[in-house]
Amino acid sequence: MNFSSKLLEDAVAEFAKLPGVGQKTALRLVLHLLNQDKSDVEKFSASISKLRNEIQFCEVCLNISDHTICQICASPKRDHSVICVVEDTRDVMAIENTNQYNGVYHVLGGLISPMDGIGPSDLQVDSLVERLKNDEVKEIIFALSATMEGDTTIFYLHKRLKSFDITISTIARGIAFGGELEYVDEITLGRSITTRVPYTNSLSK
Ligand SMILES: [Zn+2]
Repeated sequence: MNFSSKLLEDAVAEFAKLPGVGQKTALRLVLHLLNQDKSDVEKFSASISKLRNEIQFCEVCLNISDHTICQICASPKRDHSVICVVEDTRDVMAIENTNQYNGVYHVLGGLISPMDGIGPSDLQVDSLVERLKNDEVKEIIFALSATMEGDTTIFYLHKRLKSFDITISTIARGIAFGGELEYVDEITLGRSITTRVPYTNSLSK
């Protein structure tokens, strides 16, 4: 693209770095912003830098949070004896949207993927093990995508966790549409959490 302005070119280049945004879309978005009030554009850019600068990760479950302890972990109404293990914050949002789960979470921050060079030490595994040592945990639910990475991660975690006196279960994983929890509809996801199955049983099926 031949730009008439270096400022325009730089802004388009930044937008084009976003996932799913090509040069044409980036240009459309930037021109759209140019047509907005200056104050609105300032609000837009301020919210992004505020997000990046001020966001925290809950010290307990590692979910994205505005505080050192997230709302879910801080709530006395939640059942702190059940921990649902998920890949990232999108899965927490998807499960919360079902209104079928009252336990707490643990956000791994990814899945084990040897192809991408992601091993257990890159994920929040040790912090999960620490929680089992310290907290009154009775059950762990794996809610990970039905992909090879999801399977590998569950297999590894089960090995690390099986010595604890807890129930280890998994959501019905045949249901994962496209392998991503966030794409499963709320009713199906909610049902798969309430009808979760012991992990070892799910292996023999
Ligand atoms: Zn938390």
